[in-house]
Amino acid sequence: MTNDWQRLRELVAAGGLVALTGAGLSTESGIPDYRGADGERRIQPMTAQELLASPVARQRYWARSYVGWPRFAAATPNAGHRAVAALQSAAYVGSIITQNVDGLHQRAGAHDVVELHGSLAQVVCMNCGERYARAIVDQWLTEANPDFDRSFDGPLRPDGDVALAETAIAGFRVGHCLVCGSDLLKPDVVMFGESVPKDVVQSCFDAVDAASGLLVLGSSLAVMSGYRFVRRAARSGLPVLLITHGWTRAREDELSVHIDAPLGASLTRLVEELQTS
Ligand SMILES: [Zn+2]
Repeated sequence: MTNDWQRLRELVAAGGLVALTGAGLSTESGIPDYRGADGERRIQPMTAQELLASPVARQRYWARSYVGWPRFAAATPNAGHRAVAALQSAAYVGSIITQNVDGLHQRAGAHDVVELHGSLAQVVCMNCGERYARAIVDQWLTEANPDFDRSFDGPLRPDGDVALAETAIAGFRVGHCLVCGSDLLKPDVVMFGESVPKDVVQSCFDAVDAASGLLVLGSSLAVMSGYRFVRRAARSGLPVLLITHGWTRAREDELSVHIDAPLGASLTRLVEELQTS
């Protein structure tokens, strides 16, 4: 047993941690990460500005997303999500701050989950602010595109969409808001080029300040939206425990524990050891 693992067990056993989770926790559910193990970004996602700037961009976004949605929606929690829910029910972990937009923590039985980047299961009208369940918007798109071929063999991408040829996108009809008629529909997530709402950030800072430490799971911490909580905790002298697979932006002097390993197996082992100790 390594020193890091021993320290991880002791600090988690003391309880009262806040968890910060990222894409690495959901890859075992079939939802890919933006970044490879080397930290290089493999996919350049569409920005909110691009989406809102032109009807052609919205057509492209919604066609790709329409094809990817059945597979994204069919993803189920993995051993890592179940272990996090178990850690929470035993009070080792309190609040869960997640950078993921897949809702898999909640489906694994976790509660008190802050979705830092929103949820792909919701759609918002950028003209009037009305929100819709994604499942409803999916029905609209099916009705508006009765002859569209939704079958696809290629890989799902991190935002729940797929790469489509421009010819496949050309005839796609987008949805319109029922309240105002606008086609400025956007997934209710923080897209690239957008910021996490300030009140959400503050409530997460408050949770970190009140915690006994920060348990970071499956996040490379590449984006500041998550990394700022590590910096906050480290500056306050709170232990930061990181389990992730591959590259991380965090500096070793910010980390009390750094374990580079697959998430599902590591977290399952952690829960088992805590139960028997
Ligand atoms: Zn509207």
